[in-house]
Amino acid sequence: MKLLSKIAAPILSVVSLFMLTGCNKKENTINFVTSCYPIYIIAMNIANDVDGVEIKKMSENHSGCLHDFQLQTNDLRKIEKSSAFIINGAGMENFLDKITEENQEIKIIDSSKGISLIGEECDHDDCEDEECDCHDHGNFNPHIWLSPENYMIQIKNICEGMKSVDPGNAEKYQHNADIYINKIRDLKIKMHDELHAFKSKNIITFHNAFPYFAKEFGINILGVINHEPGEETSAKEILETINIVKQNGIKAIFTEPQYTDSAAKTIAKETGIEIYTLDPCVTGGNNKNAYIDTMEKNLGILKIAFSE
Ligand SMILES: [Zn+2]
Repeated sequence: MKLLSKIAAPILSVVSLFMLTGCNKKENTINFVTSCYPIYIIAMNIANDVDGVEIKKMSENHSGCLHDFQLQTNDLRKIEKSSAFIINGAGMENFLDKITEENQEIKIIDSSKGISLIGEECDHDDCEDEECDCHDHGNFNPHIWLSPENYMIQIKNICEGMKSVDPGNAEKYQHNADIYINKIRDLKIKMHDELHAFKSKNIITFHNAFPYFAKEFGINILGVINHEPGEETSAKEILETINIVKQNGIKAIFTEPQYTDSAAKTIAKETGIEIYTLDPCVTGGNNKNAYIDTMEKNLGILKIAFSE
């Protein structure tokens, strides 16, 4: 018996040491929670092959823009447990106050820092009304990532934030960010080259996702079908868009894969305009090149639409 306990004791202490270090390892794991899809893709690229670093999505159930997002307790807990919460910024996360009120310790990495924002014009007749959503989303258009130029700034900001949270891996983050920025720069040059030649670039889009994209590539968005995603487009809005299409000789209307396009179909039927799909890159696979693939696809579609 005595002999057994003599053998068992060191085994036990090895086991407990293992448990202890196992436990510590879990606590030491760096984990970044990202608020939305384009931010998730950036963080995944920067953390590529960096050991002990996890990139999580704030909510697995939500896909699309965050306009109608309701923060659940589970999401909040996940954010509280993170090393840092990486956000798009520019007013996209209109639930941010709720998070910082509950927990002031949370480190927030804002990807929009230094990007010049486009004001969100409000054309609601009832906007004097305090109930109007326009007062909630900060009056800036948050879809900054759809301009590759802005997207490169977002990569830089997120990289700087991740480096300050986890300085031990700073070099690896910087290396990955540099590789990713170079890929985006190539994409940007290609898109500029291929879109430059088209003279008439007037379009109608579905929700107000593309002003940064349009500004970068000299595209004119003459109408937006649905100003409040998730809500039905009113007959009045449809009629207004039909008039814009007819008056400006617009050739293409762009819907988005994340939303139904019954209003677009009505407008197309009335005007003979073609419907295409532009992807605002708010949903998709978890692969590192998802943003680039989506933008390449958008480029292909625009070239078809503009050459009609
Ligand atoms: Zn949106």
